[in-house]
Amino acid sequence: MPDPYRVWLAEIMLQQTTVPHAAGYFEAFTRRWPGVEALAAAEDGDVMAAWAGLGYYARARNLLKCAREVTAMGDWPRTEAGLRKLPGIGPYTAGAIAALAFGERAPAVDGNVDRVFARLLAAKGAWKEEKARIAGTVRELVPEDRPGEFAEALMDLGATVCTPKRPNCLICPVRAWCAGHAEGAPEQYPLKPAKAAKPKRTGKVFVAFRDGDVLVERRPDKGLLGGMLGLPTTAWVETGASVSPGWTVGEGKGEVIGEVRHVFTHFELRLDVLRMELGQAPEGYHWHDVETVADALPSVFRKALKLVVRA
Ligand code: SF4
Repeated sequence: MPDPYRVWLAEIMLQQTTVPHAAGYFEAFTRRWPGVEALAAAEDGDVMAAWAGLGYYARARNLLKCAREVTAMGDWPRTEAGLRKLPGIGPYTAGAIAALAFGERAPAVDGNVDRVFARLLAAKGAWKEEKARIAGTVRELVPEDRPGEFAEALMDLGATVCTPKRPNCLICPVRAWCAGHAEGAPEQYPLKPAKAAKPKRTGKVFVAFRDGDVLVERRPDKGLLGGMLGLPTTAWVETGASVSPGWTVGEGKGEVIGEVRHVFTHFELRLDVLRMELGQAPEGYHWHDVETVADALPSVFRKALKLVVRA
């Protein structure tokens, strides 16, 4: 059976991130923290810095919480229901770990599996109900024998054959049972409601230097990019509203170097990037060596720093 620690870590990293992007992080994490106890004993700041660039930082905070709970319990819960109670582990991840690492007859239904089954069933109902139907169908189909391989086979089918835009029905091993294929246009499934456009927010980010150091803060644990290192910024407000000063030290100072854009889950952000020199670190901020800071910054701040360093 695969190591539950590695299965868990991979599944958490892959929740919102592609395999090529997550692979290097997975290698780095497993080299530095080879087991759940090692990760549980890590410093919060080290783990957040190692996660920088992967996005969705609540995952990293939950990763630590989960590692510490498992270590305190003495071992991993070995069932889907037990795993579900751990921080950061939702229905899909619990099912995947239970099936892959413990051989439990549990379903692992993610967006790929939803798509495959929406096509297999030619699911035309309201998407919320169809999702529930798919979850029930997959749960019934998981075999007693090798449930982990069943989960992996479905994941592979969704990732390599029944792909979002161009399902390759010609080579598909389940074509004979596929209602979507029989209808002739399987790629139209899943029939999801159109997504609302994301609101747009704007603000300013300040790249403040002093003798080869750059000014940073440790962001509050709660909220966006919580617990991560960040550059000082104004508040980020909906486009059209006036920019309120979140960081008064920078107001009216600095040279505009350009702008960066970043898409978060619930909004799109555009920040003016300002460069400045500063004598003293204001309260709540500290200096960090500019050579090494980029690796510890989330992508949006990394982009701003790069823009200034290159300018
Ligand atoms: Fe997907 Fe085509 Fe296979 Fe149906 S036959 S599951 S649409 S690849």
